Amino acid sequence: MKRVIVSGGGWAGLAAAVELARRGIPVLLLESAGQLGGRARSVDILDTRLDNGQHLMIGAYRDMLSLLKTLGVREGDVFQRLPLELRMQSPAGSGYHLATPRLPAPLHLLWGLAGARGLTVAERRQALRMAAGLAAGASGNDDPPLEEFLRKSPQENVIIKKLWEPLCLAMLNTPIGVASSRVFRRVLRDTFARRRRDSDLLIPRTDLGALLPGPAHAFITSHGGEVRLKQRVTALQVEDGRVSGVVLAGGEALAAEHVILAVPDTVCQRLLAPHPPLASIADRLARFRHAPICTVYLRYPPHIRLGTPMAGLLDTTAQWVFDRRLTGNPGVMAVVISSHGPHMALGNDELIARIASELATLNPAWPAPDAAQVIREKRATLLCHAGIDALRPGNATPLGGCWVAGDYTDTGYPSVLEGAVRSGLDCARKIRESNDLIPWLY
Ligand SMILES: Cc1cc2nc3c(=O)[nH]c(=O)nc-3n(C[C@H](O)[C@H](O)[C@H](O)COP(=O)(O)OP(=O)(O)OC[C@H]3O[C@@H](n4cnc5c(N)ncnc54)[C@H](O)[C@@H]3O)c2cc1C
Repeated sequence: MKRVIVSGGGWAGLAAAVELARRGIPVLLLESAGQLGGRARSVDILDTRLDNGQHLMIGAYRDMLSLLKTLGVREGDVFQRLPLELRMQSPAGSGYHLATPRLPAPLHLLWGLAGARGLTVAERRQALRMAAGLAAGASGNDDPPLEEFLRKSPQENVIIKKLWEPLCLAMLNTPIGVASSRVFRRVLRDTFARRRRDSDLLIPRTDLGALLPGPAHAFITSHGGEVRLKQRVTALQVEDGRVSGVVLAGGEALAAEHVILAVPDTVCQRLLAPHPPLASIADRLARFRHAPICTVYLRYPPHIRLGTPMAGLLDTTAQWVFDRRLTGNPGVMAVVISSHGPHMALGNDELIARIASELATLNPAWPAPDAAQVIREKRATLLCHAGIDALRPGNATPLGGCWVAGDYTDTGYPSVLEGAVRSGLDCARKIRESNDLIPWLY
Protein backbone atom coordinates (compact mmCIF):
# COMPACT_ATOMS: atom_id res chain seq x y z
CA MET A 1 0.00 0.00 0.00
CA LYS A 2 1.21 3.52 -0.74
CA ARG A 3 1.95 5.91 2.07
CA VAL A 4 -0.56 7.27 4.57
CA ILE A 5 0.15 10.72 5.96
CA VAL A 6 -1.06 11.53 9.47
CA SER A 7 -1.09 15.25 10.13
CA GLY A 8 -0.94 16.01 13.87
CA GLY A 9 0.96 14.19 16.61
CA GLY A 10 -1.54 14.47 19.48
CA TRP A 11 -2.95 11.27 20.98
CA ALA A 12 -5.40 10.82 18.04
CA GLY A 13 -2.66 11.08 15.40
CA LEU A 14 -0.30 8.89 17.40
CA ALA A 15 -2.98 6.20 17.84
CA ALA A 16 -3.64 6.23 14.08
CA ALA A 17 0.05 6.07 13.17
CA VAL A 18 0.76 3.25 15.64
CA GLU A 19 -2.13 1.16 14.31
CA LEU A 20 -1.06 1.71 10.69
CA ALA A 21 2.58 0.89 11.46
CA ARG A 22 1.47 -2.21 13.38
CA ARG A 23 -0.36 -3.37 10.24
CA GLY A 24 2.74 -2.81 8.09
CA ILE A 25 1.19 0.16 6.27
CA PRO A 26 3.79 2.85 5.45
CA VAL A 27 3.00 5.91 7.55
CA LEU A 28 4.46 9.39 7.83
CA LEU A 29 3.43 11.47 10.86
CA LEU A 30 3.80 15.23 10.51
CA GLU A 31 3.63 17.36 13.66
CA SER A 32 3.87 21.15 13.57
CA ALA A 33 5.28 21.50 17.10
CA GLY A 34 8.75 20.51 18.28
CA GLN A 35 7.32 17.67 20.41
CA LEU A 36 4.55 15.07 20.27
CA GLY A 37 1.51 14.91 22.54
CA GLY A 38 -0.56 17.95 21.53
CA ARG A 39 -2.88 18.96 24.37
CA ALA A 40 -1.56 16.11 26.55
CA ARG A 41 2.17 16.76 26.59
CA SER A 42 5.05 17.31 29.02
CA VAL A 43 6.45 20.73 29.87
CA ASP A 44 9.65 21.65 31.72
CA ILE A 45 8.75 24.22 34.39
CA LEU A 46 9.51 24.83 38.09
CA ASP A 47 12.86 23.03 37.56
CA THR A 48 11.11 19.76 36.87
CA ARG A 49 9.08 17.90 34.24
CA LEU A 50 5.33 18.48 34.52
CA ASP A 51 2.39 18.44 32.10
CA ASN A 52 0.68 21.20 30.17
CA GLY A 53 -2.34 20.32 32.33
CA GLN A 54 -3.05 17.70 34.97
CA HIS A 55 -4.83 14.74 33.35
CA LEU A 56 -6.89 11.98 34.95
CA MET A 57 -7.93 8.80 33.18
CA ILE A 58 -10.46 6.11 34.18
CA GLY A 59 -10.74 2.35 33.85
CA ALA A 60 -13.36 2.76 31.09
CA TYR A 61 -10.67 4.13 28.74
CA ARG A 62 -10.44 0.77 26.98
CA ASP A 63 -8.96 1.96 23.68
CA MET A 64 -6.27 3.96 25.47
CA LEU A 65 -5.38 0.97 27.65
CA SER A 66 -5.28 -1.38 24.67
CA LEU A 67 -3.06 1.08 22.77
CA LEU A 68 -0.64 1.13 25.70
CA LYS A 69 -0.60 -2.68 25.60
CA THR A 70 0.27 -2.57 21.89
CA LEU A 71 3.15 -0.25 22.77
CA GLY A 72 4.40 -2.68 25.40
CA VAL A 73 3.67 -0.22 28.23
CA ARG A 74 2.56 -1.98 31.43
CA GLU A 75 -0.43 -0.33 33.08
CA GLY A 76 1.05 -0.63 36.56
CA ASP A 77 4.22 1.18 35.46
CA VAL A 78 2.38 4.28 34.28
CA PHE A 79 -0.80 4.40 36.37
CA GLN A 80 -1.87 4.03 39.94
CA ARG A 81 -5.31 2.40 39.76
CA LEU A 82 -7.62 3.37 42.62
CA PRO A 83 -11.28 2.52 43.24
CA LEU A 84 -13.46 5.58 42.70
CA GLU A 85 -13.44 7.83 45.71
CA LEU A 86 -14.58 11.45 46.01
CA ARG A 87 -12.92 13.30 48.85
CA MET A 88 -14.50 16.74 48.67
CA GLN A 89 -13.12 19.43 50.99
CA SER A 90 -14.68 22.82 51.68
CA PRO A 91 -13.64 25.79 53.81
CA ALA A 92 -17.38 26.45 54.26
CA GLY A 93 -17.95 23.01 55.78
CA SER A 94 -19.91 21.44 52.91
CA GLY A 95 -17.32 18.73 52.20
CA TYR A 96 -18.15 15.02 52.02
CA HIS A 97 -16.57 11.65 51.33
CA LEU A 98 -17.94 9.11 48.88
CA ALA A 99 -16.17 5.76 48.60
CA THR A 100 -17.23 2.86 46.38
CA PRO A 101 -17.19 -0.61 47.96
CA ARG A 102 -16.15 -3.88 46.27
CA LEU A 103 -19.58 -4.61 44.78
CA PRO A 104 -20.51 -5.27 41.16
CA ALA A 105 -21.43 -2.24 39.02
CA PRO A 106 -23.64 -0.25 39.38
CA LEU A 107 -24.29 -1.34 42.97
CA HIS A 108 -20.90 0.04 44.02
CA LEU A 109 -22.00 3.54 42.99
CA LEU A 110 -25.45 3.29 44.52
CA TRP A 111 -23.97 2.01 47.77
CA GLY A 112 -21.35 4.78 47.67
CA LEU A 113 -24.03 7.45 47.22
CA ALA A 114 -26.29 5.97 49.86
CA GLY A 115 -23.45 5.89 52.39
CA ALA A 116 -21.64 9.14 51.55
CA ARG A 117 -20.37 10.75 54.74
CA GLY A 118 -21.10 14.47 55.00
CA LEU A 119 -24.27 14.41 52.87
CA THR A 120 -27.61 14.70 54.66
CA VAL A 121 -30.19 11.92 54.32
CA ALA A 122 -32.26 14.16 52.02
CA GLU A 123 -29.21 14.91 49.86
CA ARG A 124 -28.35 11.23 49.56
CA ARG A 125 -31.94 10.44 48.58
CA GLN A 126 -31.91 13.20 45.98
CA ALA A 127 -28.55 12.00 44.63
CA LEU A 128 -29.91 8.47 44.25
CA ARG A 129 -33.08 9.69 42.52
CA MET A 130 -30.99 11.70 40.08
CA ALA A 131 -28.61 8.79 39.43
CA ALA A 132 -31.63 6.58 38.65
CA GLY A 133 -33.03 9.29 36.34
CA LEU A 134 -29.72 9.55 34.52
CA ALA A 135 -29.55 5.77 34.11
CA ALA A 136 -33.11 5.62 32.75
CA GLY A 137 -32.34 8.49 30.36
CA ALA A 138 -34.70 10.52 28.23
CA SER A 139 -36.66 9.50 25.19
CA GLY A 140 -35.56 9.89 21.57
CA ASN A 141 -33.09 12.56 20.62
CA ASP A 142 -33.84 14.79 23.57
CA ASP A 143 -30.74 16.51 24.91
CA PRO A 144 -31.75 19.07 27.53
CA PRO A 145 -29.00 20.83 29.49
CA LEU A 146 -27.92 18.64 32.40
CA GLU A 147 -29.10 20.96 35.14
CA GLU A 148 -32.58 21.13 33.64
CA PHE A 149 -32.60 17.33 33.28
CA LEU A 150 -31.66 16.79 36.94
CA ARG A 151 -33.65 19.38 38.81
CA LYS A 152 -37.21 18.54 39.65
CA SER A 153 -37.53 20.95 42.57
CA PRO A 154 -35.62 23.97 43.97
CA GLN A 155 -34.72 21.94 47.12
CA GLU A 156 -32.35 19.94 44.97
CA ASN A 157 -30.01 22.88 44.37
CA VAL A 158 -27.61 21.85 47.10
CA ILE A 159 -26.92 18.32 45.88
CA ILE A 160 -26.58 19.58 42.31
CA LYS A 161 -23.93 22.05 43.46
CA LYS A 162 -22.11 19.56 45.67
CA LEU A 163 -22.15 16.46 43.48
CA TRP A 164 -23.30 16.86 39.89
CA GLU A 165 -21.77 20.24 39.11
CA PRO A 166 -18.18 19.20 39.99
CA LEU A 167 -18.62 15.89 38.15
CA CYS A 168 -20.00 17.64 35.09
CA LEU A 169 -17.13 20.14 35.03
CA ALA A 170 -14.57 17.37 35.49
CA MET A 171 -16.05 15.07 32.85
CA LEU A 172 -17.35 17.52 30.21
CA ASN A 173 -15.38 20.71 31.02
CA THR A 174 -18.70 22.48 30.54
CA PRO A 175 -20.93 24.33 33.04
CA ILE A 176 -23.89 22.24 34.14
CA GLY A 177 -26.38 24.88 32.97
CA VAL A 178 -25.48 24.31 29.31
CA ALA A 179 -23.86 20.83 29.34
CA SER A 180 -25.27 18.03 27.18
CA SER A 181 -27.22 15.66 29.43
CA ARG A 182 -26.96 13.05 26.69
CA VAL A 183 -23.16 12.99 26.60
CA PHE A 184 -23.03 13.10 30.40
CA ARG A 185 -25.38 10.10 30.65
CA ARG A 186 -23.33 8.19 28.09
CA VAL A 187 -20.10 8.73 30.05
CA LEU A 188 -21.87 7.80 33.27
CA ARG A 189 -23.22 4.60 31.68
CA ASP A 190 -19.79 3.62 30.33
CA THR A 191 -18.17 4.41 33.67
CA PHE A 192 -20.65 2.92 36.11
CA ALA A 193 -23.03 0.47 34.45
CA ARG A 194 -20.71 -2.28 33.16
CA ARG A 195 -17.72 -3.36 35.24
CA ARG A 196 -16.70 -1.98 38.60
CA ARG A 197 -13.16 -1.54 37.25
CA ASP A 198 -14.42 0.94 34.66
CA SER A 199 -14.94 3.59 37.33
CA ASP A 200 -11.43 3.15 38.76
CA LEU A 201 -9.33 6.30 38.71
CA LEU A 202 -6.08 5.95 36.74
CA ILE A 203 -3.63 8.46 38.10
CA PRO A 204 -0.51 8.91 35.95
CA ARG A 205 2.79 7.86 37.55
CA THR A 206 4.82 9.51 34.78
CA ASP A 207 4.66 12.77 32.88
CA LEU A 208 2.31 12.60 29.91
CA GLY A 209 5.10 12.59 27.31
CA ALA A 210 6.64 9.45 28.80
CA LEU A 211 3.22 7.83 29.22
CA LEU A 212 2.20 7.55 25.58
CA PRO A 213 3.84 9.94 23.05
CA GLY A 214 7.39 8.67 23.78
CA PRO A 215 6.59 4.95 23.47
CA ALA A 216 4.33 5.65 20.43
CA HIS A 217 7.16 7.51 18.66
CA ALA A 218 9.54 4.59 19.28
CA PHE A 219 6.93 2.07 18.08
CA ILE A 220 6.15 3.93 14.86
CA THR A 221 9.80 4.28 13.83
CA SER A 222 10.70 0.71 14.81
CA HIS A 223 7.82 -0.56 12.65
CA GLY A 224 8.91 1.18 9.46
CA GLY A 225 7.03 4.47 9.93
CA GLU A 226 8.46 7.96 10.03
CA VAL A 227 7.84 10.88 12.40
CA ARG A 228 8.79 14.43 11.42
CA LEU A 229 8.51 17.29 13.92
CA LYS A 230 8.17 21.00 13.07
CA GLN A 231 6.32 20.16 9.86
CA ARG A 232 3.15 22.23 9.52
CA VAL A 233 0.60 21.06 6.98
CA THR A 234 -0.94 24.07 5.23
CA ALA A 235 -3.10 22.47 2.54
CA LEU A 236 -4.54 19.26 1.20
CA GLN A 237 -3.71 18.25 -2.37
CA VAL A 238 -6.54 16.84 -4.46
CA GLU A 239 -6.31 15.11 -7.86
CA ASP A 240 -9.11 13.48 -9.82
CA GLY A 241 -11.57 13.93 -6.97
CA ARG A 242 -9.32 12.22 -4.43
CA VAL A 243 -6.72 13.29 -1.92
CA SER A 244 -3.21 12.94 -3.31
CA GLY A 245 -1.12 14.44 -0.51
CA VAL A 246 -0.41 17.52 1.57
CA VAL A 247 1.52 20.77 1.24
CA LEU A 248 3.83 21.90 4.04
CA ALA A 249 4.60 25.43 5.20
CA GLY A 250 7.47 26.36 2.88
CA GLY A 251 5.72 24.81 -0.10
CA GLU A 252 7.02 21.22 -0.13
CA ALA A 253 4.40 18.78 -1.43
CA LEU A 254 4.24 15.23 -0.05
CA ALA A 255 2.25 12.52 -1.85
CA ALA A 256 0.00 10.03 -0.06
CA GLU A 257 -2.80 7.59 -0.80
CA HIS A 258 -4.67 8.61 2.34
CA VAL A 259 -4.38 11.63 4.64
CA ILE A 260 -5.62 11.58 8.23
CA LEU A 261 -6.13 15.08 9.58
CA ALA A 262 -5.53 14.67 13.31
CA VAL A 263 -5.11 18.39 13.94
CA PRO A 264 -7.32 20.47 16.28
CA ASP A 265 -10.80 21.24 14.91
CA THR A 266 -9.95 24.89 14.19
CA VAL A 267 -6.97 23.86 12.01
CA CYS A 268 -8.98 21.09 10.39
CA GLN A 269 -11.72 23.58 9.52
CA ARG A 270 -9.19 25.76 7.67
CA LEU A 271 -7.74 22.79 5.76
CA LEU A 272 -11.15 21.41 4.72
CA ALA A 273 -12.91 24.68 3.83
CA PRO A 274 -11.35 25.27 0.34
CA HIS A 275 -12.58 21.87 -0.96
CA PRO A 276 -16.26 21.83 -2.02
CA PRO A 277 -16.97 18.19 -0.99
CA LEU A 278 -15.66 19.03 2.51
CA ALA A 279 -17.41 22.38 2.91
CA SER A 280 -20.35 21.03 4.92
CA ILE A 281 -18.02 19.44 7.50
CA ALA A 282 -16.00 22.69 7.63
CA ASP A 283 -19.24 24.62 8.26
CA ARG A 284 -20.09 22.36 11.20
CA LEU A 285 -16.62 22.70 12.68
CA ALA A 286 -16.90 26.49 12.43
CA ARG A 287 -19.85 26.30 14.84
CA PHE A 288 -17.87 24.62 17.63
CA ARG A 289 -17.23 26.56 20.83
CA HIS A 290 -14.36 25.78 23.16
CA ALA A 291 -13.69 25.78 26.89
CA PRO A 292 -10.45 26.50 28.76
CA ILE A 293 -8.72 24.54 31.52
CA CYS A 294 -6.36 26.27 33.88
CA THR A 295 -3.72 24.37 35.87
CA VAL A 296 -1.97 26.12 38.74
CA TYR A 297 1.20 24.35 39.89
CA LEU A 298 2.39 25.20 43.41
CA ARG A 299 5.74 23.96 44.70
CA TYR A 300 6.02 23.28 48.45
CA PRO A 301 8.88 21.64 50.33
CA PRO A 302 9.13 17.95 49.31
CA HIS A 303 7.75 16.62 52.61
CA ILE A 304 4.35 18.33 52.08
CA ARG A 305 1.63 15.81 51.22
CA LEU A 306 -2.05 16.05 50.40
CA GLY A 307 -2.74 12.72 52.10
CA THR A 308 -4.50 11.28 49.04
CA PRO A 309 -3.45 11.44 45.36
CA MET A 310 -6.29 13.87 44.65
CA ALA A 311 -9.10 15.79 46.35
CA GLY A 312 -12.05 17.86 45.18
CA LEU A 313 -12.62 21.37 46.48
CA LEU A 314 -16.01 23.03 46.99
CA ASP A 315 -16.82 26.72 47.59
CA THR A 316 -13.39 27.74 46.26
CA THR A 317 -11.86 28.92 42.98
CA ALA A 318 -9.75 25.74 42.95
CA GLN A 319 -11.77 22.69 41.87
CA TRP A 320 -9.41 19.70 42.17
CA VAL A 321 -5.95 19.32 43.63
CA PHE A 322 -3.52 16.54 42.71
CA ASP A 323 -0.44 15.62 44.72
CA ARG A 324 2.27 15.15 42.08
CA ARG A 325 4.35 12.99 44.44
CA LEU A 326 3.07 9.96 42.54
CA THR A 327 4.40 11.43 39.30
CA GLY A 328 7.85 11.97 40.77
CA ASN A 329 7.37 15.61 41.82
CA PRO A 330 7.14 15.48 45.65
CA GLY A 331 5.83 18.73 47.12
CA VAL A 332 4.25 19.87 43.83
CA MET A 333 0.46 20.32 43.85
CA ALA A 334 -1.46 20.67 40.58
CA VAL A 335 -4.69 22.61 41.01
CA VAL A 336 -7.21 22.29 38.20
CA ILE A 337 -9.89 24.86 37.32
CA SER A 338 -12.16 23.73 34.50
CA SER A 339 -14.08 25.78 31.96
CA HIS A 340 -14.92 29.49 32.00
CA GLY A 341 -15.33 31.43 35.24
CA PRO A 342 -14.28 34.53 37.15
CA HIS A 343 -10.73 33.09 37.50
CA MET A 344 -10.18 33.85 33.80
CA ALA A 345 -10.30 37.57 34.60
CA LEU A 346 -7.55 37.29 37.23
CA GLY A 347 -3.89 37.84 36.41
CA ASN A 348 -1.53 34.92 37.12
CA ASP A 349 -0.09 36.42 40.32
CA GLU A 350 -3.55 37.14 41.69
CA LEU A 351 -4.76 33.65 40.80
CA ILE A 352 -1.72 31.99 42.43
CA ALA A 353 -2.22 34.05 45.61
CA ARG A 354 -5.88 33.09 45.78
CA ILE A 355 -5.26 29.36 45.23
CA ALA A 356 -2.37 29.31 47.74
CA SER A 357 -4.59 30.95 50.33
CA GLU A 358 -7.42 28.45 49.71
CA LEU A 359 -5.00 25.53 50.16
CA ALA A 360 -3.58 27.16 53.30
CA THR A 361 -7.08 27.42 54.80
CA LEU A 362 -7.70 23.73 54.21
CA ASN A 363 -4.15 22.68 55.22
CA PRO A 364 -3.10 25.07 58.01
CA ALA A 365 0.21 23.22 58.62
CA TRP A 366 1.50 23.87 55.09
CA PRO A 367 4.06 26.64 54.58
CA ALA A 368 3.67 29.11 51.69
CA PRO A 369 4.67 27.66 48.30
CA ASP A 370 8.18 28.65 47.22
CA ALA A 371 7.29 28.80 43.52
CA ALA A 372 4.22 28.57 41.35
CA GLN A 373 3.22 28.64 37.70
CA VAL A 374 -0.09 28.94 35.86
CA ILE A 375 -0.78 27.18 32.55
CA ARG A 376 -3.91 28.32 30.78
CA GLU A 377 -5.06 26.20 27.86
CA LYS A 378 -7.64 28.49 26.27
CA ARG A 379 -9.03 25.89 23.89
CA ALA A 380 -8.54 22.85 26.07
CA THR A 381 -11.69 21.05 24.87
CA LEU A 382 -14.92 21.48 22.96
CA LEU A 383 -17.67 23.13 24.94
CA CYS A 384 -19.84 20.02 25.30
CA HIS A 385 -23.17 21.84 25.19
CA ALA A 386 -26.66 20.39 24.70
CA GLY A 387 -27.07 19.41 21.05
CA ILE A 388 -23.31 19.02 20.40
CA ASP A 389 -23.72 15.49 19.00
CA ALA A 390 -25.42 16.85 15.89
CA LEU A 391 -22.35 18.91 14.96
CA ARG A 392 -19.60 16.32 15.40
CA PRO A 393 -18.33 14.70 12.20
CA GLY A 394 -17.51 11.02 11.69
CA ASN A 395 -14.02 9.93 10.61
CA ALA A 396 -14.72 9.36 6.92
CA THR A 397 -15.29 12.36 4.65
CA PRO A 398 -16.94 12.67 1.22
CA LEU A 399 -13.49 13.22 -0.33
CA GLY A 400 -11.80 9.87 -1.09
CA GLY A 401 -8.68 9.28 1.01
CA CYS A 402 -9.39 12.16 3.41
CA TRP A 403 -10.08 11.23 7.07
CA VAL A 404 -10.50 13.26 10.23
CA ALA A 405 -9.49 12.18 13.73
CA GLY A 406 -9.52 13.95 17.06
CA ASP A 407 -11.38 14.37 20.32
CA TYR A 408 -13.95 16.59 18.58
CA THR A 409 -15.14 13.89 16.16
CA ASP A 410 -18.22 11.78 16.75
CA THR A 411 -16.67 9.52 19.40
CA GLY A 412 -19.65 9.48 21.78
CA TYR A 413 -17.36 10.89 24.47
CA PRO A 414 -16.70 14.49 25.42
CA SER A 415 -13.27 15.87 24.41
CA VAL A 416 -11.09 13.40 26.26
CA LEU A 417 -8.06 11.22 25.60
CA GLU A 418 -10.16 8.08 25.14
CA GLY A 419 -12.17 9.73 22.35
CA ALA A 420 -8.99 11.02 20.69
CA VAL A 421 -7.38 7.57 20.75
CA ARG A 422 -10.57 5.85 19.61
CA SER A 423 -10.94 8.18 16.61
CA GLY A 424 -7.32 7.61 15.55
CA LEU A 425 -7.64 3.84 15.80
CA ASP A 426 -10.94 3.91 13.89
CA CYS A 427 -9.41 5.90 11.01
CA ALA A 428 -6.50 3.47 10.74
CA ARG A 429 -8.82 0.44 10.79
CA LYS A 430 -11.12 1.92 8.15
CA ILE A 431 -8.13 2.65 5.90
CA ARG A 432 -6.95 -0.90 6.41
CA GLU A 433 -10.42 -2.21 5.53
CA SER A 434 -10.62 -0.07 2.39
CA ASN A 435 -7.23 -1.50 1.40
CA ASP A 436 -8.53 -5.06 1.88
CA LEU A 437 -11.54 -4.30 -0.31
CA ILE A 438 -9.59 -2.90 -3.28
CA PRO A 439 -6.11 -4.41 -3.03
CA TRP A 440 -5.38 -3.97 -6.77
CA LEU A 441 -5.22 -0.20 -6.25
CA TYR A 442 -2.11 -0.54 -4.16
C1 LIG B 1 -5.33 21.25 30.48
C2 LIG B 1 -6.05 20.05 29.91
C3 LIG B 1 -6.52 19.07 30.78
C4 LIG B 1 -7.17 17.96 30.27
N1 LIG B 1 -7.57 16.97 31.14
C5 LIG B 1 -8.01 15.81 30.64
C6 LIG B 1 -8.24 14.70 31.50
O1 LIG B 1 -8.06 14.79 32.71
N2 LIG B 1 -8.66 13.53 30.95
C7 LIG B 1 -8.85 13.39 29.61
O2 LIG B 1 -9.18 12.29 29.16
N3 LIG B 1 -8.67 14.44 28.76
C8 LIG B 1 -8.24 15.63 29.24
N4 LIG B 1 -8.00 16.67 28.39
C9 LIG B 1 -8.35 16.54 26.97
C10 LIG B 1 -7.26 15.81 26.16
O3 LIG B 1 -5.99 16.35 26.41
C11 LIG B 1 -7.59 15.96 24.68
O4 LIG B 1 -8.87 15.42 24.46
C12 LIG B 1 -6.61 15.24 23.78
O5 LIG B 1 -5.27 15.52 24.11
C13 LIG B 1 -6.88 15.66 22.33
O6 LIG B 1 -6.02 14.95 21.47
P1 LIG B 1 -6.11 15.17 19.89
O7 LIG B 1 -5.06 14.30 19.29
O8 LIG B 1 -7.51 14.98 19.45
O9 LIG B 1 -5.79 16.71 19.64
P2 LIG B 1 -4.47 17.55 19.93
O10 LIG B 1 -3.85 17.07 21.18
O11 LIG B 1 -4.85 18.97 19.85
O12 LIG B 1 -3.49 17.17 18.75
C14 LIG B 1 -3.42 17.88 17.53
C15 LIG B 1 -1.96 17.96 17.10
O13 LIG B 1 -1.90 18.56 15.80
C16 LIG B 1 -0.78 19.43 15.78
N5 LIG B 1 -1.00 20.40 14.69
C17 LIG B 1 -1.76 21.53 14.74
N6 LIG B 1 -1.76 22.13 13.51
C18 LIG B 1 -1.00 21.35 12.70
C19 LIG B 1 -0.64 21.43 11.31
N7 LIG B 1 -1.09 22.41 10.53
N8 LIG B 1 0.17 20.45 10.80
C20 LIG B 1 0.64 19.44 11.59
N9 LIG B 1 0.32 19.31 12.90
C21 LIG B 1 -0.51 20.24 13.45
C22 LIG B 1 -0.76 20.03 17.17
O14 LIG B 1 0.49 20.59 17.49
C23 LIG B 1 -1.11 18.81 18.02
O15 LIG B 1 0.04 18.10 18.39
C24 LIG B 1 -7.38 17.83 28.87
C25 LIG B 1 -6.93 18.81 28.00
C26 LIG B 1 -6.25 19.90 28.51
C27 LIG B 1 -5.73 20.95 27.56
